[in-house]
Amino acid sequence: MSNAAENLMSLDIVPVRCPVCGEAQNTLDGGSDPIAPGARIGCMVCGHAFEAAEYLQLSIERRAELDSASIDPKARAN
Ligand SMILES: [Zn+2]
Repeated sequence: MSNAAENLMSLDIVPVRCPVCGEAQNTLDGGSDPIAPGARIGCMVCGHAFEAAEYLQLSIERRAELDSASIDPKARAN
């Protein structure tokens, strides 16, 4: 049961920050697609269950945050 995070990574899904505890560690139950019907995104730390719309909004914000940061030192090498 240790590969929930790996599944999220492999699908290029960004972990969203939990509004309750502030940790960005998500669990995914009910399939491999977090926005599929029946899928449930939860917080690995405090157990908060994200609403689908809530997760979507947070993931959009998080992805924009990562994009603007452009964290890749090699890309800056000359
Ligand atoms: Zn939490």
